[in-house]
Amino acid sequence: MWIVPEGEIAGLMTPEAAFDAVEAVFAAMARGDASNFPVVREAIGHEDALYGFKGGFDGAGMTLGLKAGGYWPNNAKHGIINHQSTVFLFDPDTGRVSAAVGGNLLTALRTAAASAVSSKYLAPKGAKVLGMIGAGHQSAFQMKAAVRFGDFDRVIGWNPHPEMLTRLADTAAELGLPFEAVELDRLGADADVIISITSAFEPLLLDAHVTGPTHIAAMGTDTKGKQELDPVLVARSRLFTDEVAQSVSIGEFQHAAAQKLISEGDVIALGQVINGQHEGRGDAEVTIFDGTGVGLQDLAVAAAVVELAKQQGKAIEVAI
Ligand code: NAD
Repeated sequence: MWIVPEGEIAGLMTPEAAFDAVEAVFAAMARGDASNFPVVREAIGHEDALYGFKGGFDGAGMTLGLKAGGYWPNNAKHGIINHQSTVFLFDPDTGRVSAAVGGNLLTALRTAAASAVSSKYLAPKGAKVLGMIGAGHQSAFQMKAAVRFGDFDRVIGWNPHPEMLTRLADTAAELGLPFEAVELDRLGADADVIISITSAFEPLLLDAHVTGPTHIAAMGTDTKGKQELDPVLVARSRLFTDEVAQSVSIGEFQHAAAQKLISEGDVIALGQVINGQHEGRGDAEVTIFDGTGVGLQDLAVAAAVVELAKQQGKAIEVAI
């Protein structure tokens, strides 16, 4: 099998390659060529950690495997980031393990790529103001991908822990864009595209905050119980996701679905818009993309990285 260490990923994977891999796999899922397996994600009762597996099989790309890992909120004391994961790939012809790939940076890149793909298809025309909710590790990747693939001229942001807002200010400065910290009512009124990427367990962005044509990429909720958006806001919006079953069970739409404000039939797979099977935004005022994070995203970027690592002599071969 091949090993691609975490430390090599930054030199191998580009935001463009991640964007292309994620867009392609969302399209393959909507065509029925690729499917995700049910997600296992559990609170292990130690270190407040959420641990699990996300797997799938892409019969078009012939990629089989899983990502194992999760979210350890207290990792700062170890000097490492809170999200820790590894992707394992298997030979679909034999079942033998074929690769182990560091999954931390890949997760950030593929998650940021997913919201950027959603904005490409769903953002209101002429979107210029990017609103960020969340200022943790992932937020910088989200902002960078949004700016790289969009046409924003300023960034506004809010975070439940204001002391973390320096990350957003620094990232915007790196991108050459003005940044302003604002309250949520300003953010919801001014931003054309809003990305939420927090670990919240109750609504942050309320229905009354959001006015005018807006696209919201809700990226933080990937587990039962987590929540970033007001279910009333969800109920009045046009809804998209990576994987419909995940969105109403572990994603942002779980709450509106549980309250019977929406049903699974109201949620459209983004891949359908990519494939031209659905019009996308249409005349909706607010669109929401619920980025729950699917295993096939991880497998797609990991498979691409293994090929690049082999070509560039950066993959380590071990017998198993
Ligand atoms: P982080 O720990 O670096 O930052 C956490 C963020 O959430 C900060 O903005 C913090 O202020 C906020 N926060 C923390 N506790 C909170 C609480 N109780 N209520 C409200 N806000 C709170 O985390 P990160 O690596 O930036 O990840 C952010 C979230 O994104 C996590 O919940 C993670 O599980 C999720 N995530 C989702 C995907 C996906 O594919 N959808 C992928 C990766 C990460």
